[in-house]
Amino acid sequence: MTPDSVGFVGLGMMGAPMATRLLKAGHRLAVYNRTKGKAEALVKQGAEWCESPLAVAGASGIVFSMVSDPPALEEVSLGRQGILAGLAKGCIHVDLSTVSPSVTRDLAQRYRSAGCFFLHAPVLGGISQAAEGTLLVFAGGDKEPYYRVEPLLRQLGKQVWRFEHAEQASHLKLLCNLFIAGMITTLAQALVFAQKADVDPRTLLEVIGQSQLNAPSYQRKGAAMLDGNFAPRFFLEHMLKDINLMLGAAKEAGAPLPAIEVAHRLFSDAERAGFGKEDYSSVVKVLQAQTAK
Ligand code: NAP
Repeated sequence: MTPDSVGFVGLGMMGAPMATRLLKAGHRLAVYNRTKGKAEALVKQGAEWCESPLAVAGASGIVFSMVSDPPALEEVSLGRQGILAGLAKGCIHVDLSTVSPSVTRDLAQRYRSAGCFFLHAPVLGGISQAAEGTLLVFAGGDKEPYYRVEPLLRQLGKQVWRFEHAEQASHLKLLCNLFIAGMITTLAQALVFAQKADVDPRTLLEVIGQSQLNAPSYQRKGAAMLDGNFAPRFFLEHMLKDINLMLGAAKEAGAPLPAIEVAHRLFSDAERAGFGKEDYSSVVKVLQAQTAK
């Protein structure tokens, strides 16, 4: 292990293309994923398979993780086979997942007490941006480890913002996802309303597309909703997870989030209806079902 050898834990829809970028940039890469099959493509390209997050940490000076949610991050970080147990003193764990500020605050303290570093660097952008290395990255944590990982973060994203504390980066990511939750619920309501009012919803998208209101997501997700294409690019269950994280973090900060409560209800209904592993745009089906009654 050298201080700049790299590891990656969590090779899901986002983790796999990010890890692939690091490998293609010429880094020696140690990898682990709970479901081993998802590591096959990377191992074929030259990554080294490890049997646990602990083993990845033992082989790496800098370990990235990209996992689902706070419990998954706690497990890969603090579990008996976790990253912290395998990381040498002075080495760094950079988590890229969308998780709660309270968890990243706690991990930063625990790693510091153990003589290691924890940075939180969540990302804005999807699978395509992960593959192209054009994500937006928010990196929070101590200065010295940040400057050691910054060149790697620049291989993952086109712009990196630095924050003094891990939890500030976690908050910024949740603030961005507040826009995503608002966008998708507004879009779903508008398309269903248009159909009921006998206005062609594709004309609505065209008008929005020509206006100052447009956002690329409206066009992409609007077309997917109208085509009934809910192949997952961002799981609906992860959007609901993020809404719950926003509600928790806003409560802790003392900020009101009344509009997100509607999104919370719609996404909870969608998950109960079995759409958790579909794309988050499938929330439109909850409203379509209500109009069918
Ligand atoms: P995903 O495909 O479901 O990947 C989740 C990863 O977490 C998988 O590697 C999974 O392992 C692992 N995992 C889950 N629970 C675990 C546990 N208890 N122990 C160890 N590993 C565990 O989802 P994703 O879309 O890549 O999302 C990953 C994170 O990025 C989430 O926090 C999400 O909110 C965030 N994010 C997603 C997008 C997007 O567009 N998709 C964009 C920005 C941020 P298995 O393969 O074994 O299930």
